[in-house]
Amino acid sequence: MGATEETFLTPVVPMDYTYNYRIGPYMTRYLEGFKERKILGSRCPDCKKIAVPPRKYCGVCNKVMEEMVELPQEGTLENFTVGHVVMEKGGRLSPAERPYVLGLIKLDDNASLLLHRVEGVDPGKVEAGMKVKAVWKDQVEGDYEDLDHFEPA
Ligand SMILES: [Zn+2]
Repeated sequence: MGATEETFLTPVVPMDYTYNYRIGPYMTRYLEGFKERKILGSRCPDCKKIAVPPRKYCGVCNKVMEEMVELPQEGTLENFTVGHVVMEKGGRLSPAERPYVLGLIKLDDNASLLLHRVEGVDPGKVEAGMKVKAVWKDQVEGDYEDLDHFEPA
């Protein structure tokens, strides 16, 4: 059968979503803390919840959070997922070299959950409730990648 008016074409159009945005004063403080291997959060003056990474407004009561607090390097893996694909530059997905664990980590009872990669544990054996600790790159420079991953504590 040849093409008719009803035939569909399926063009694939690669898109480049590269854009720049200002990270603002709160993320700047967070990344400045990385230079000293510190994990900072902002604490609400009202409900005392801590946002990590820090942000200006409390997600619970909408108060402006000005106080910065240092969080412990160890916490509890509250939940996780096992990843099998990685996103490359340009947004293209490809199979991961090996399955990896993405965890939601609680560093303080009052702190929000920090999303980070968890290494050093078999993805088939990872469990919620595990204690994990931060592992930094050898050289830290105030970059988002300085906090390399978490591993079992
Ligand atoms: Zn609050």
